[in-house]
Amino acid sequence: MTYQADEKGYYGEFGGAYIPEMLYPNVEELRSRYLDIMKENSFQKEFKELLKEYVGRPTPLYYAKRFSEKYGTKVYLKREDLCHTGAHKVNNTVGQILMAKKLGKNRIIAETGAGQHGVATATVCALMGIECIVYMGEIDIERQAPNVARMKMLGAKVVPAKSGSRTLKDATNEAIRDWINNPVDTHYIIGSVVGPHPYPDMVARFQSVISEEIKNQLKEKEGTENPDFVVACVGGGSNAAGAYFHYLDNPEVGIIAVEAAGKGIDSGESAATSALGKVGIIHGSKTLLMQTGDGQITEPYSISAGLDYPGVGPMHANLFKSGRGEFISITDEAAMKAGLELAKLEGIIPAIETSHALAIFEDRKFKKDDIVVVNLSGRGDKDLNTYIDYFNL
Ligand SMILES: *Cc1c(COP(=O)(O)O)cnc(C)c1O
Repeated sequence: MTYQADEKGYYGEFGGAYIPEMLYPNVEELRSRYLDIMKENSFQKEFKELLKEYVGRPTPLYYAKRFSEKYGTKVYLKREDLCHTGAHKVNNTVGQILMAKKLGKNRIIAETGAGQHGVATATVCALMGIECIVYMGEIDIERQAPNVARMKMLGAKVVPAKSGSRTLKDATNEAIRDWINNPVDTHYIIGSVVGPHPYPDMVARFQSVISEEIKNQLKEKEGTENPDFVVACVGGGSNAAGAYFHYLDNPEVGIIAVEAAGKGIDSGESAATSALGKVGIIHGSKTLLMQTGDGQITEPYSISAGLDYPGVGPMHANLFKSGRGEFISITDEAAMKAGLELAKLEGIIPAIETSHALAIFEDRKFKKDDIVVVNLSGRGDKDLNTYIDYFNL
C-alpha cells in the first residue's frame, strides 16, 4: 500500500493517461524515459547544482516564533518564497528543462494562467538558450500585464488563446494542439502535478526536494525528521506534493491540504475541488474536478490566481478519497487576513495562495508540542495590488 504513483501513473483509482491518439508518441517517449534519465548521474549532478547555485537552495526552514506563540503550537515555515523568481515553481521548470535537453528537444511550450508558471518556464529557457512559447488566455494576458512583460523580457513568445473563456483551460488546449503538431523537437513543460502520466509523478519528484530538505533541517533543529503535520495550499498541487512527498507513506506525519473556498463553498464562486468535485477526466488525467451535471467543467473562482483551477492532481484526489489527507477550505476573506497577519507577526509577505495555508490556524487547533511545517510556497510581491485594494493600504 503506497500513496505514490504506480507504474501506470495511478494513485488508487486516480491518474493514468487519457490522451488523444495523436499525442501518444510524445507522452510515451517521456514516459518510457523519465525515470532512467532522472537516475543518471549527469542529470542529478546538473539538477542539484542548478538548484543550489541558480535557485538558491536549500531554502531555510524558519521557526516562526511570534506566529507560533499566537497559535499555541510550533510552526515552521519552509521558505520557498526565497527561491529565484519567488516561488516553488522553478524547482519543476529547472528539472523539466534538463529533461528536455536529455530528450534532445530544442523548443519548449507551456501554458500559463496567472503567468507564474510562464515566467518560471521563460526563466529556464533563457538560462539554457532554448526557444520558448507560452500560451496564455487573452483575458489573462490583460489581467496579468506584469508577468507578460517579464516573459517577454526573458525572451519568450506569449501567444494569446482566443477561444472559449480565453483563460487557462483554453491556453492548455492550444499548448496541446501545438505539441501534436510538433512531436519531434518540442517538450511541453506542465506546471503542476496534473496532466497525463508521467507528468504528475515527474513533477512531484522534481518538487520532492522540498520534503527532502525539511527532513534534514528538522532533524537538525528538533532531533526528528518527522513533523506532526505538513500543511500546504493546493491549486494543481505541486508545492503540496513536494512538501508531502517523503512523508506520504509515513502515517506518523499528518498531511493537511488547503483549498480555496473563494467566496464560500456553496457560493458558486469557489475552487474547493475536494468538497465540490466529482470524478472525471481533465487534461489527460482521471481525478476530481468541478463539473456540471452533464460533465462540463465549471469555471473556478478564487482571489488567488494560482489556486483558481477546476481540478486537483491525482495524488491529492487519492489523499482525499482514502482519508490519508485532511482537506480544509479557506475563503478569500480568511486568506487575506492571514496574509496580513503573517506580514505583521513575522515580517514576511506571503503569496495569497500561501495565505490560504496560513489561515487554517484560526480554526484548526494543534497541541502545544506539535511540530507543524507550513510550506510557504511563494512571496507576495506579485499580489501587492490585490492586498492594497483589499485592505485600502
Ligand atoms: C502556482 C502557485 C501555487 C499553486 O500551484 P500548486 O501546483 O498547487 O503548488 C501555490 N503557491 C504559489 C506561490 C504559486 O505560485
